[in-house]
Amino acid sequence: GLMKSNEIRQSFLNYFKSRGHEVVPSSSLVPGNDPTLLFTNAGMVQFKDLFLGSEVRSYQRAVSSQRCVRAGGKHNDLENVGYTARHHTFFEMLGNFSFGDYFKEDAISYAWEFLTEVLRLPKDKLWVTVYRDDDEAAAIWTDQIGVPVDRVVRLGESSNFWQMGDTGPCGPCSEIFYDHGPEVAGGPPGSPDEDGDRYIEIWNLVFMQFDRQTSGELVPLPKPSVDTGMGLERLAAVLQHVHSNYEIDLFQNLLNAAATITGVSDTANTSLRVIADHIRSCAFLVLDGVTPSNEGRGYVLRRIIRRAVRHGYQLGVTDLFFYRLVDALVKEMGDAYADLKKDQSRVEKVLKEEEQQFARTLENGMQILEQAIKQLNGHVLSGDTVFRLYDTYGFPVDLTADVAREHHLTLDMDGFERAMNVQREQARAASQFNAVEKLAIDVADGTEFVGYDTLNKDATVLAIYQQ
Ligand code: ATP
Ligand code: MG
Ligand code: MG
Ligand code: MG
Repeated sequence: GLMKSNEIRQSFLNYFKSRGHEVVPSSSLVPGNDPTLLFTNAGMVQFKDLFLGSEVRSYQRAVSSQRCVRAGGKHNDLENVGYTARHHTFFEMLGNFSFGDYFKEDAISYAWEFLTEVLRLPKDKLWVTVYRDDDEAAAIWTDQIGVPVDRVVRLGESSNFWQMGDTGPCGPCSEIFYDHGPEVAGGPPGSPDEDGDRYIEIWNLVFMQFDRQTSGELVPLPKPSVDTGMGLERLAAVLQHVHSNYEIDLFQNLLNAAATITGVSDTANTSLRVIADHIRSCAFLVLDGVTPSNEGRGYVLRRIIRRAVRHGYQLGVTDLFFYRLVDALVKEMGDAYADLKKDQSRVEKVLKEEEQQFARTLENGMQILEQAIKQLNGHVLSGDTVFRLYDTYGFPVDLTADVAREHHLTLDMDGFERAMNVQREQARAASQFNAVEKLAIDVADGTEFVGYDTLNKDATVLAIYQQ
């Protein structure tokens, strides 16, 4: 029979374990070692210091299945959810790592052996990309592995050169793609229509071989390393012979639960899929200690929850529904993530409270938005409307943008910022007295006065839209 998601994860861990890799559990979505990173967005995050050489452990090879969130920050796939078959806000990244141990040759042959011999994927459906100048990797693929030259594509820096930051470890990467066949739209990597869902990137092998200096110079690392990442859901789609991540076992079970709870029977419905995607990021973020708030990580969580709740409204759901999906999620993922099972009721409570709070203003806000859309001349929703929804009805800007996009509309962000500034000035003038009073209290308390943080909420929203 077809391998289930849970079996695929296990098979990956076993394969690399039997090749000398330490099995390391997934780390939290809130990176413990990097305050500049919004969420853990790759398997390598918890190993950063090992790659940098500032930490040494008892092992030089590791394997993990890392929970990742890509919503906000450098890798933001939130806007892709509901629009591609392969992007989620939350996904699991299967990865094997070498910390100055093996390099390109082994990394490539492990990947090929796992895909074509353990999982028995047809070789003629696999394509690979290498970095333009990486003759070494290209030769391994063609001469040692035997991939035909016309399925080894050389690409530039933006897709095939990885770096940790402006300086530090970096190097070329090689990505493995699967061709879902001509019934799916899209072209091979590097072609003009590569963004379609036909040729899907399943695995990225990063070869860390340089240390970039502040001057820009690339100095070879004495002991090059390997960092790989493969999306479990994308691999499951391939193995289960479906063309969308939403059709894999794990998502079908979540979608069926969502269908029952919302009363919608079509599990291919886009809103239902968005909801099934969002419950995973939201539940795991809460599990990892994030709570909805008006700034930073908490605001990203709030935005995702509210987006999901709005999609429920779109489906005509009138009762609280989102938190009820946690139960189905625990059934799917509670064995791999025991904490999720243990903390189920806490997770449900946090999600329920946020949903409840938003439910108070959602319907009125939606009526205002629908009215504005109906009366609109042109294709741009006014900044005043966006601001009013944001300020009075708790609509994060990206939620309004999500609705607007469904109507092929965009938002007047300059107008939004102007409205925001006007209100900010008014608030500042009105709060002079309060601010002075609060300062007095802080000083009397003996708490350190570090300045007022009233702009945080706005700053987060603006930062998100300035990316
Ligand atoms: P893409 O080009 O498809 O956006 P990527 O190059 O951004 O993928 P990487 O950063 O290389 O992805 O991450 C390693 C692997 O993780 C990818 O090859 C893919 O299988 C998986 N992956 C990346 N982003 C997502 C996502 N948003 N949802 C699900 N899987 C993902
Ligand atoms: Mg991407
Ligand atoms: Mg890519
Ligand atoms: Mg990639």
